[in-house]
Amino acid sequence: MSGAASLSVAGLSKSFGDSSVLTGLDLEVPAGSLTAVLGPSGCGKTTLLRLLGGFEHADAGSIRLGERVLCDERTHLAPERRAIGFVPQEGALFPHLDVAANVGFGLSRAQRRGGRVDELLELVGLGAMAKRLPHQLSGGQQQRVALARALAPSPAVVLLDEPFDALDAGLRAQVRGEVRSVLREAGATALLVTHDQEEALSLADRVAVMRDGRIIQSAEPQAVYRDPVDAAVALFVGEAVLLDAELADGNADTALGQIPVRGALADQRQAVVMLRPEQISCHERLLDGSPRGRVTAAEFFGHDASARIAVGDRGGPITITARCAGHRLPEVGDQVSIVVEGSALAFAATGAPAPAGLPRTARAALVG
Ligand code: ATP
Repeated sequence: MSGAASLSVAGLSKSFGDSSVLTGLDLEVPAGSLTAVLGPSGCGKTTLLRLLGGFEHADAGSIRLGERVLCDERTHLAPERRAIGFVPQEGALFPHLDVAANVGFGLSRAQRRGGRVDELLELVGLGAMAKRLPHQLSGGQQQRVALARALAPSPAVVLLDEPFDALDAGLRAQVRGEVRSVLREAGATALLVTHDQEEALSLADRVAVMRDGRIIQSAEPQAVYRDPVDAAVALFVGEAVLLDAELADGNADTALGQIPVRGALADQRQAVVMLRPEQISCHERLLDGSPRGRVTAAEFFGHDASARIAVGDRGGPITITARCAGHRLPEVGDQVSIVVEGSALAFAATGAPAPAGLPRTARAALVG
């Protein structure tokens, strides 16, 4: 790919009638990297892509590709002048054109004759399928053709709109790995939107979490998972245990005992603290000094099993979902000890609590 550029979005706003969809969105996508924009359905991800592509006009804000202004208060470049490639939700190949013609669709005759189509088909591993029609391909192969078509004119940025949604679970994992390696090999700057947190965390160099028309956190996947900006993000990017806590001297006093605490609020008195389930293990052998709980339900999933465990709390019992090895399903009524590893992240107790209705649950490894 020639000329991959960084993408910078600042203060982008867009309303449809009375409904504000984007409300001052800022986003930086470094050149040659893949950023996943992660947000729930209807939060405005497609609207963002349409603004980036030039298919909608922004109400305010700016979009830059490297030094080039694509839109600001004075400028609105037409889609064909933006050097942006687009992979839509379901590939959207031209059904009457074969694979080679689909890939070459946006190229000049000279480019098509110059071997660019063959080069792209090799890149996506479909060199032998140039003459097939889209209906003669699997869903994953169709997505690879759509990616090759988007990359063919050597765009500065490629946008991917939930590109794996139409694929079944098994194929999805495989195709996303393939797409990732094609984008890496092409050196493309890419922005992918998804509502699937596992997809965002496993695929992207950076994850940008979208809420209320803005990006509320943009960081490397590990950082978003380990240090989410608030409880709602914590629950959106994975399973989390949220516990009321009193903080003192770098420790949180919680229903699961004293836990070292980190985060900007670590010196406050009252807080909600967050643990990831893999930090928690449940022991069938009762350990002195460890908090205890009682198994209230157990579920078997094959590769593992989970147990729901009631643990005493100041405000009444909370329930923890514990993961356990598949060969051993704990029994309802069993007493277990609970051990926490590592530190908990502190959030303001009243600032941004978990949305109403979200259970305070955890998954934990059941050992011993
Ligand atoms: P999904 O994950 O379901 O595709 P999304 O995050 O991509 O959702 P958008 O498609 O951007 O969300 O839509 C955001 C909001 O803007 C929705 O409430 C939608 O109904 C509204 N919307 C989008 N386009 C228009 C339009 N052209 N006119 C009016 N409302 C629109």
